[in-house]
Amino acid sequence: MTTMPTDPPADGLGDGLGDALGDAQEAVDEACRAAAAAAYGWRHTEAFARGRVLMAIARRMLADLDELVATECAETGKPAALAEAEIRGAADYFEFYASLVHLPSGDVLDVRPDLHVYTMREPYGVVGVITPWNLPLNQAARACAPALAAGNVVVVKPAETTSGTTLALARMALEEGLPPGVLTVVPGPGSTVGTAIVEHPLVRKVAFTGSVPVGQSIGRIAAERILPLTLELGGKSANIVFADADLDFAAAEAVRAFTGNAGQVCSSGTRLLVERSVHDDFVARVVALARRQRPGHELGPMITDKQFETVQHYFQVAAEDGLVPATGGTVAVAPGLAERRYVEPTVYVGVTNDMRIAREEVFGPVLAVIAFDTEDEAVAIANDSDYGLVGGVFTADMSRAFRVAHAIEAGQVYINSWSTQSVQMPFGGHKASGYGREKGIEALAHYSQVKSVSVRIDPAPPRTAARSS
Ligand code: NAP
Ligand code: MG
Repeated sequence: MTTMPTDPPADGLGDGLGDALGDAQEAVDEACRAAAAAAYGWRHTEAFARGRVLMAIARRMLADLDELVATECAETGKPAALAEAEIRGAADYFEFYASLVHLPSGDVLDVRPDLHVYTMREPYGVVGVITPWNLPLNQAARACAPALAAGNVVVVKPAETTSGTTLALARMALEEGLPPGVLTVVPGPGSTVGTAIVEHPLVRKVAFTGSVPVGQSIGRIAAERILPLTLELGGKSANIVFADADLDFAAAEAVRAFTGNAGQVCSSGTRLLVERSVHDDFVARVVALARRQRPGHELGPMITDKQFETVQHYFQVAAEDGLVPATGGTVAVAPGLAERRYVEPTVYVGVTNDMRIAREEVFGPVLAVIAFDTEDEAVAIANDSDYGLVGGVFTADMSRAFRVAHAIEAGQVYINSWSTQSVQMPFGGHKASGYGREKGIEALAHYSQVKSVSVRIDPAPPRTAARSS
């Protein structure tokens, strides 16, 4: 069964398409030319100096945390504590990659006695970065920091509705000593600005975070241009709970897994696979904890009107499959919440893995619970998905935990905790969840390319034979 959406979303452009496109192309062209002009200087800046600037950017983000949090909250409606954690994480990216600019970047290869052969890593030059609205500054930093550390220059297009903190980042970076042109933000719609970046001849690599249909459309352009891509797309990740797990802890983690950022996270745990012998007991714990998520407190709103509609559409989709929510399934109403778009954490029980609610990414706080009997069955269900971003396994049997973690088709797996993500851990998908890796030392490899250099060494004059007497 194929459940992947295949058409790029409508771009909503009406009259004035030509003008908008022309303006976007002009803005992107200007940014790319400025970037290309700055590329040589940045690449050949001493590593210490590059690292210091990246570290200064990290410190500045923390110094101006309140301003960044206020901007992020105004644009997304997120609870301030969540925005703050994400922005601290954004600063972490700059700090982490600042510390990696001194990494040895090549090898010496033992090929032949008359050759000295070595490899070196080179930046691509102009890197285009396109980011979504769900964790705006955090995701921009996730791509920009390693790209800059590897010696590239960057042109960023944030999501149109949430550009504020990315624009602030570029301003702060400039004020902290990043040379002009090294990091430029071009705000605007994806259909014009985003496309213009991917098509621009000076752009040599694109890192895209967002939906599968847009990733596919970027991939088609990239195929024509032989343009390397990092694609961080969606997910429908499985969280597997065995009967021997610490059920209270696992239930709390399972709720965190699908309600964090109101489910607007690519790595949400949206399929909960529960061993049948504890299924009813475990579901009761999950439902009780889900009901404690208070809209406007722990639980943020849907960030865009479109996402608010999408989630309600999926309530309908689930109903058409005969599902009745064990909790939620509606818009949340509470005093003072009227102006925001809240939905209740929603749990569907008795889901089968062929239902749309188990196959399609909702991008809201909606959980599909599926019962299983054996380890093999759990792994098979987890892997029966178009996506493969993350996975979780909760069990007291550590051999089983490792077996399952290794069998899950996903870029990262959590054992006995959900989403212990950090900047050091490489992050990325299998299958339709994308390719390439962000985060960790690994990301540097995706923002650079290897060159091997061989040098002929003149043979030494013949040695005088050692005297034997
Ligand atoms: P989206 O519609 O794909 O948009 C992502 C970005 O691409 C936005 O900046 C958007 O611009 C731009 N864009 C839209 N059409 C484009 C085009 N034709 N060419 C170039 N760029 C274009 O995704 P979204 O709805 O914002 O975000 C939700 C999706 O992102 C979910 O599927 C989620 O799983 C995924 N996501 C993945 C990760 C990850 O790390 N794997 C992280 C977060 C989100 P505008 O919207 O401004 O027009
Ligand atoms: Mg979109």
